[in-house]
Amino acid sequence: MKVLLATANQKKIQEIKDILSETAIAIITPRDLDLFVDVEEDGSTFKENAIKKATAWAKASGMNALADDSGLCVDALGGRPGVTSARFAGENATDEDNCRLLLKYMEGIKDRRARFICVIALAMSNGDVITVQGDYPGLILDRPLGTNGFGYDPVFFDPVTKKTFAQLSTEAKNQRSHRRRALLALKRHFMGLKYI
Ligand code: IMP
Repeated sequence: MKVLLATANQKKIQEIKDILSETAIAIITPRDLDLFVDVEEDGSTFKENAIKKATAWAKASGMNALADDSGLCVDALGGRPGVTSARFAGENATDEDNCRLLLKYMEGIKDRRARFICVIALAMSNGDVITVQGDYPGLILDRPLGTNGFGYDPVFFDPVTKKTFAQLSTEAKNQRSHRRRALLALKRHFMGLKYI
């Protein structure tokens, strides 16, 4: 089965290719088709945004299309920044701006629990849509630590490795991340459906 990845992010493309490599899914990239679809991520949930992106790319290409949407949800902030993770501190905010604002909101708060969430949607060319979710729980520190990764990685402490995601190598982070967990759920789904 051929699947178009609805992203231009080369790191995501590599990560998805790696984990789906043992399945019979052949990954096609927007570059392969010379196709670009601009989708506004204005949904109120990760699932809504992932479905919106996947269906728009499936429609534009006439192929099965896979899209993801992810972000950080902090318990003490009622799940924020959530779907607004990329623009928490404003439309043109940098990762540093977003982390700084998050730490400001968390000042004096004892409950530091948070989770990264990733929802993957696969829109089939016949109109069917499958969604799967991967979560990774952790704690928000009171200052950034580490220089790898992106987004909220420097303030997200992983209780298992006892490091922030920004202190882990890319490989170590990708082996445990919310995206990896969502991809594994997708892989399990395909194995259950005997697509491999
Ligand atoms: P997207 O799903 O790649 O568009 O991610 C939206 C935003 O969520 C990013 O800009 C980051 O702020 C945050 N985010 C998603 N995944 C991660 C991650 O693995 N580490 C840190 N931040 C992330």
